[in-house]
Amino acid sequence: MASPNFKIREIEAEDTLIKLYSLETDVEVEKFSLEVGKDSIEIFNRIFGKYPYGQYSIVMTEFPTGMEYPGLVFIGKEFFQKYYKNQLEIVIVHETAHQWWYGGVVGNDQIDEAWLDEALASYSEVIYMSERYGEEKGKEYYDYSLKTSYEYGKDIISQDKRVLKPLSEFSGWDDYGLLVYTKGAMFLGEIEREFGKEALYDILNKYYNQYKFYIGTTEDFFKNM
Ligand SMILES: [Zn+2]
Repeated sequence: MASPNFKIREIEAEDTLIKLYSLETDVEVEKFSLEVGKDSIEIFNRIFGKYPYGQYSIVMTEFPTGMEYPGLVFIGKEFFQKYYKNQLEIVIVHETAHQWWYGGVVGNDQIDEAWLDEALASYSEVIYMSERYGEEKGKEYYDYSLKTSYEYGKDIISQDKRVLKPLSEFSGWDDYGLLVYTKGAMFLGEIEREFGKEALYDILNKYYNQYKFYIGTTEDFFKNM
């Protein structure tokens, strides 16, 4: 993170300056990463509420996949290749969504209520796909990345399929990933299916605006729903 060798590229998304810190990558991939950051911020600004910090850094790191921090995200360097553009896009979108959910603005208890930021960040990927490429693409993405993986995985994880429980009660990574990220995001998908996109967007926007710079809980989220 402190390397003096980073190459820095910038782009503006409304009034947020986005900086990409990368090492020896393809110029096209760098430009693409910045565009994804820009599109994510603009889409989430419009739907969830405004990102308040004026600056956002996307940093290529040795850390696998991605990790969110306030105003800054790690993106695994393995994704910065032409062949992995689709995965790179989703990791950037997911970590950027965490700026709204947990990492930057609305806080939550990640140990006891992990779904509250991970399911929201995962479903934000679906929202991005749908807003960026059209509803058909959003639906396609939902079906293969959430529904299908849950259908395939649900029989090999533990019997206890509750999404809302402390981390210590999950049997392992597969269990945690499939329940918290996937099934949790499908819960938001169900709301959209039952009540419509506007209703879901409204719930997320109100939750964000009501709890920004505070800690939100599942109870708060349900009350808002
Ligand atoms: Zn996440």
